[in-house]
Amino acid sequence: MIPPIASKFVAGESPAEAIEHTRDLNDRNVKAILNLLGEHYHERAPADEDAEAYLRLVDDIESADAEACISVKPSQVGLDVGTEVFHENVERIADYAADRGVFVWIDMEDHDTTDVTLDIFEKVARKHEGGVGLCVQSNLKRTGDDLERLADLPGKIRLVKGAYDPPAEVALTEKSKVNAAYKRHLEYMFEHFEGGIAVGSHDPEMIEYATDLHEEYGTDFEVQMLMGVREDAQYDLAEEYEVWQYVPYGDKWLSYFYRRAMERKENMLFALRAVIGR
Ligand code: FAD
Repeated sequence: MIPPIASKFVAGESPAEAIEHTRDLNDRNVKAILNLLGEHYHERAPADEDAEAYLRLVDDIESADAEACISVKPSQVGLDVGTEVFHENVERIADYAADRGVFVWIDMEDHDTTDVTLDIFEKVARKHEGGVGLCVQSNLKRTGDDLERLADLPGKIRLVKGAYDPPAEVALTEKSKVNAAYKRHLEYMFEHFEGGIAVGSHDPEMIEYATDLHEEYGTDFEVQMLMGVREDAQYDLAEEYEVWQYVPYGDKWLSYFYRRAMERKENMLFALRAVIGR
C-alpha cells in the first residue's frame, strides 16, 4: 500500500485502486486518464509486461464501464529497447483498446524521441480513426510545424508546456517564451483543428485563453490536469467543460511522488506537513 503522503498524487499500486479513484472522479463529472507508472526500460521483458498490463487495464475499464482512457509513455513500452519493439507494443495496445472502445494517449518524452513518437501516432491514428491521441510540447521550437502535420490526422492532441529539459538549440528555455508559444499553438489548434484539442495545463491563464478561443471559433476542447493538482479547479471547470484527470498508479510511485513534491513549494510543504503529522 502506498503511504497517505503519496496518495494525493497517485491512486494506489493496483489497477483496482485506479478504477476506484476513477469512480469517485466520474461521480464529480471528471473523467480519468490512467497511467501505469514506469519508464525507460532497456530490456524487452519489462516493456512487454507493461504493455500487457495496459491490455488488462483496458479490460478493467470496459468491465467497470468507467469513463476512463489510458496514457502510455513511449519508453515504458519499448522505445529505449528499439523502434520496432516500441511500435509493436503501441500497435498492440491501440488495436486492443480500439476493439473495446477505450481511448489511448501517447505521452511525449525527451526531444530526441519526438520523430519516432509522431510516426507511430500517425500510423495508429489513421488506422483507428479518432481512438488515439498524442501529447506535444510547446517548449520545442519544432511544435508549430508538427501541429501543421497533425492538423489533418484523426484523434486528439494534448498540448503541454513540456516537462523535460531540452537544449537551447531545439527549445525555448525562458518561461515567458514558452507561455507565448503555448498561446500561439492554442490559437493554431482552435483555428485549424476540427476538435480533439486537449489543454494539458494547470495554468489559469492558459485555460482562460483556451475558453476564449473556444468562444471565438466554437471548436471543441477538453482540459486535462494531474491528480492532486488544482483539484478544486478541476471540479469547478467540469461544471462547464469536459475535464480529464491524469491518474498515475502502480508500484513505481516513489520517483513520481518525489518529482511532484519537488516541483512546487506548495507540494513540498504538503509533503513535509504529512511527515511531521501537522
Ligand atoms: P506551470 O507553467 O508549471 O505553472 C503556471 C501556473 O499554473 C502557476 O503559476 C500556477 O498558477 C498554476 N499551477 C501549476 N502547477 C500548479 C500546482 N502544482 N498547484 C497549483 N497551481 C499550479 N509533459 C510532457 O513533457 N509530456 C507529457 O506527455 C505530459 N503529459 C501531461 C499530461 C497532463 C494531463 C498534464 C497536466 C501535464 C502533462 N505534462 C507532460 C507536463 C507539462 O508539460 C508541464 O510540465 C506541467 O503541466 C506544468 O506546466 P503547467 O502548464 O501546468 O503550469
